[in-house]
Amino acid sequence: MRNKHHDTLVGHKSMPQDLVAQSEFGTFFGISQETFDLVWSNLTAKDGNSAIYVSMEIGADLDVFNPLKNHLVHNEITESDDPGLSSIIKKVLHGPQKIPNYGGGLGILAGDTLKSFSACKIPTAAISLLYSKGYFSQLVDSKVGQISWATEWSPEDTPSLFLLQTPKHPAKPLIIEIPFFDPGKKATMAYAQVSMKLEVNENLDFFVPEFLLDFSLPESPESVRNASNQLYDSSSDQMKAIQRRMLGAGVMPLLNVLGLTANTIHLNEQHGVVSVLHLIVDHLQQKFGVSYKEKIKDADILKAAEEVSQKVVYTIHTPVKAGHDRFDKSLYAGLSDKVCRQVLGLLAADKENPSLYNFTQFAMQVNRAVNSVSRLHRDVTKKQFPQYSNKITAITNGVHHLTWISDAKAEVFDSFPELKGWQENPAIFVNAESLQTNKKFRTYLEQAWKHDTELLIQYVNDMLIMHRHQIEETWIDPPNFLSHLHEEDIPLTPDVFTIGFARRFSTYKRADLIFDDLKILTSIITELDHPVNFLFAGKAHPADEPGQSLIKIILDVQEELYERSKGMAKLVFIPNYDMAIAKMMVSGVHAWLNSPKRPLEASGTSGMKAAMNGVPNISILDGWWMEGFHDGLTGWKFGIDTPVDMAPLSEDPAELLYEQDSASFYEMFPQVLKTFYDPKLRPQYLDKCINNIFLNIPIFNTHRMIAEYCRNYALDLPTSVAKRIKQFQKLYKSEV
Ligand SMILES: *Cc1c(COP(=O)(O)O)cnc(C)c1O
Repeated sequence: MRNKHHDTLVGHKSMPQDLVAQSEFGTFFGISQETFDLVWSNLTAKDGNSAIYVSMEIGADLDVFNPLKNHLVHNEITESDDPGLSSIIKKVLHGPQKIPNYGGGLGILAGDTLKSFSACKIPTAAISLLYSKGYFSQLVDSKVGQISWATEWSPEDTPSLFLLQTPKHPAKPLIIEIPFFDPGKKATMAYAQVSMKLEVNENLDFFVPEFLLDFSLPESPESVRNASNQLYDSSSDQMKAIQRRMLGAGVMPLLNVLGLTANTIHLNEQHGVVSVLHLIVDHLQQKFGVSYKEKIKDADILKAAEEVSQKVVYTIHTPVKAGHDRFDKSLYAGLSDKVCRQVLGLLAADKENPSLYNFTQFAMQVNRAVNSVSRLHRDVTKKQFPQYSNKITAITNGVHHLTWISDAKAEVFDSFPELKGWQENPAIFVNAESLQTNKKFRTYLEQAWKHDTELLIQYVNDMLIMHRHQIEETWIDPPNFLSHLHEEDIPLTPDVFTIGFARRFSTYKRADLIFDDLKILTSIITELDHPVNFLFAGKAHPADEPGQSLIKIILDVQEELYERSKGMAKLVFIPNYDMAIAKMMVSGVHAWLNSPKRPLEASGTSGMKAAMNGVPNISILDGWWMEGFHDGLTGWKFGIDTPVDMAPLSEDPAELLYEQDSASFYEMFPQVLKTFYDPKLRPQYLDKCINNIFLNIPIFNTHRMIAEYCRNYALDLPTSVAKRIKQFQKLYKSEV
């Protein structure tokens, strides 16, 4: 691939054996022994000067970012004299490139964050769970809608995932034990083996270990084993509570067995807050000795909580109810012991319902810093939790630029000296302002964009034709109306204005908003004589019925949209959304659509991925777009933007404001089409693209975001690292 700095590795690091590292926990491939030792010594140092990032999900598929594979390809390393090494190289080059441990934005953010930690050499490790059946795979049938089934994947075949070994017993997997409570029974033990993914950086000279706990071992209680299958299995509250316990209760035992010393635990959403519960209980035990259970009073618990809080930072991700765990106290009676319940009783009280524990309340109390994920979301969060108003700050999300910028665009950026160093420092893109009038830059950019659009449209056309063949061969009714047309009528063309929309299908995201009035929408298209491709993708949680009906609505409007527009509007649903599809879409479309009910989209990150590729957003003024819109320089806004103080947080279907916000879209949309299609206005379209590059890339990247996180971590970083991350933050502070 393109990357220049691989050249720096040529010569001294191109031998595969230089990429092998050993430790008492196993043998790893992807970094040198020196790098491994450096990272490990940081993470086990007595001073505890590192952070642990705890997340239910991590999205870091290898097919969208894989510096190790790039390195092997670039150096033409395909095998080794050592047969063991040869097979590992083959695995990196040809093995499965997906790690399906994510459901949506939260997981992708985690992955992007860890990649930036790695790039910037911030000593961190992550803890998550390994789900033997991933999240779920999505099949879409035009009559039934979404069909979900278990994802087949084999962690042991996945490159860059290594099963840790027991020191001195290399043949035995490292096992951690966690006291568990089999509902209704006495305390039992649950057991997990640990896989480590090495999140290596571009230069292969640093990595962030991601520890994935796998509780599916036969020795674990059945309830725990069942809960280890699927991310966000919500078949019962108990299942959900067990998953949260697996994550939270797993943190300290893992750190202990590995000797990790981090003084800071970062909760990526409150899902992992059980870790803090156990820190508090441990603290009490240390202070009051074996019979602590009899001795402690409420005041002791509050004091312990206060001390433990100094170790915790917390990122809250959504104002939406489903994102906040609340568990029935009676359920917890079967899941934890008396002291745990005493702690929760004091710190996790639910304001509305005294029979529940509220884990967001808990997380809000036990931290030294809490941040929301955009400025607008900060204001909403303060409104939701007025009692913590003083400590809630904003750190606006970002995305990992090296993951999301397409190869074609990267090549363009590589060829202009003004942007030199953009891989290491995305703040460099402020210099793109000087390229606004550079003819060569404009031409190259337009060509790269066209190339990305062609790739996307080709993918869609191939899919539609393949589905057409399936009609004849299987019982599956393919998702798209277009597949039913004559083969020659099916294809989309890349010069047609193409809008993308892809994200989880939840009701507040209103995927169907712009189809609210097909008559108006199609008359805009036919009257202007400007055709449009609408490309949609996304999964609905298998238990979210209303979310699934949204997918069905998208399928159901296809035919009418096509007929009414006389074939000028084509709406296609792409099944089984994942990171690779996301990357293809955000870089290939002409505009990226987001139509949530304001202010429920706390940040949104797919729009940032589009911006990374210069693609303008058309969006409700919600989440990050409040900060990225720049008075229209970078895209378009629509919809009601009442002040947050007055904005209703209701998710009630009747209060989702469809009529008002869709009307606003129809009013704005002709302008977009004219700018795109009118040759006289078309340069303005490219202007918006370049505006995104110099106004939004420098801000909405995870390098800048983690530089702001580091403020909360208060790590004592080496001068060179501290200096470097300061650059990313120079241009922007989320908190104003
Ligand atoms: C970026 C991404 C998301 C999140 O999209 P939002 O617009 O933030 O909701 C979800 N799924 C995948 C696969 C993504 O890449």
